[in-house]
Amino acid sequence: MKKSDVVVFVSAGMLSPKKRDHVLARRQLYLNYGALSLATILDATGLKTLLFHGEHEQPSVALRMLIESGSLPSRFPVMVSIPSFYALPWASAFCQLLRTAFPSSKIIVGGRWVVGPDPEWLQKKLPAADLLVPGLGEPLIQRLVNGVDDVRRLSAPTPDQVLNHRLVFDHERYQPSVEASRGCGMGCAFCEERDIRLEKLRSPDQIACAIAAVSSQYNGGQIRPYLQSSMFLPSERWASALANSVSELGLNVHWRTETRVDALRPETIPYLAKAGMRVLDLGLETASPQQIVSMHKSSDPERYLRRASLLLRACRESGVATKVNVLLYAGETSKTLDETRTFLDEHIDSIAGVSVGPVVAYGPPKIADALLEEWAKSGATPVDSNSAAETGISQLHLSREIDQAEAESASLELSRRYMDASSYFQLKSFSYYARDYTRKDFDNDVRASPSSRLPFRTDMDLTRD
Ligand code: SF4
Repeated sequence: MKKSDVVVFVSAGMLSPKKRDHVLARRQLYLNYGALSLATILDATGLKTLLFHGEHEQPSVALRMLIESGSLPSRFPVMVSIPSFYALPWASAFCQLLRTAFPSSKIIVGGRWVVGPDPEWLQKKLPAADLLVPGLGEPLIQRLVNGVDDVRRLSAPTPDQVLNHRLVFDHERYQPSVEASRGCGMGCAFCEERDIRLEKLRSPDQIACAIAAVSSQYNGGQIRPYLQSSMFLPSERWASALANSVSELGLNVHWRTETRVDALRPETIPYLAKAGMRVLDLGLETASPQQIVSMHKSSDPERYLRRASLLLRACRESGVATKVNVLLYAGETSKTLDETRTFLDEHIDSIAGVSVGPVVAYGPPKIADALLEEWAKSGATPVDSNSAAETGISQLHLSREIDQAEAESASLELSRRYMDASSYFQLKSFSYYARDYTRKDFDNDVRASPSSRLPFRTDMDLTRD
């Protein structure tokens, strides 16, 4: 069979959605901007590249689509990127199918959160993979494509490049990303970025130019970029300069980003809104003083909540919708849940929606054991003590009072308290649904999904067929 000269990147999909499996949950798209960054680097050197997302397709369907598009088999290694442990079963099946279909194909696997913790453990899960690359791939990618198996870890600052979304298979469906900065290092106990140093934010001019360039990749069609930054921390001066740069370029692009509730200064919000920010994801996680301390979010819960309050109100005043992330944590009780609920109730007019779920220990035993030990001190126990070794995902009974089933129902109860179908659709369609997914499509999917598993109220009008 003739081999193509395309470097194929495959972002592993999921055999079933991360939280709850139903029709609606399968509509979410996640652009793998880490893999796209590597594809963009190779494209700039003149190599033909393609990024294919597995999403919720079966691995066999994904492989067939790549063969039918003429991209596989390729004379280059196939790059499989695993964005999370939930994507591991998909990746394993895909690599096996690829190995069987094209025995001489080289398979290189990356994905910093999944490969990094314990490559030896991962190799056993992916026997068909030839090479696992831990860490960030930017400094290595050209050598890997040229057959040099050198996987030394090198530093990889946020690349000064605009992601080329045209390299994504069916790119018009995906909302684009603009990388603003990498890392965080704020030390939250549950987070994979806790020890990864925060890098300098790209300059306002670079961000504005990147938004303009991405816009042109979509031929001027409406886009809602996600400004990727685990810890978006601009100063007032930076925010004001971004508003100026955006205005000088005549851009009218609305975007979304995320940050902590106690870090971003409320004074920046009017400028960021002027620069196009319309949705802000806020990692509140909890409003229980006890849980704030045990998450290592802050040693001063009062200050943490005061700052959260000011930020939420500043967003409301500037017309920025906030989606508040809530994490049910080890040691959670009805008292700590009440504290979070009371805070959210007090700010209900500043909250567009919430995302609620119980904490999970990610990683094989080498990583998960330390977390589980720490959480055991607060009374949390793993639901299945073998799951770290088997899947890299350990679900928890959070405390004697709140077991896994309770945590799931408390998550749904809290989500529904603050979101109806319209608010949920508005937030999801901003960045996570396909660009051509309409409200009517959404309503049809809602009807086809079990209402007991939906994280929003459905006691409102859905559009008629
Ligand atoms: S602030 Fe957010 S990204 Fe940073 S360590 Fe905490 S949870 Fe992770």
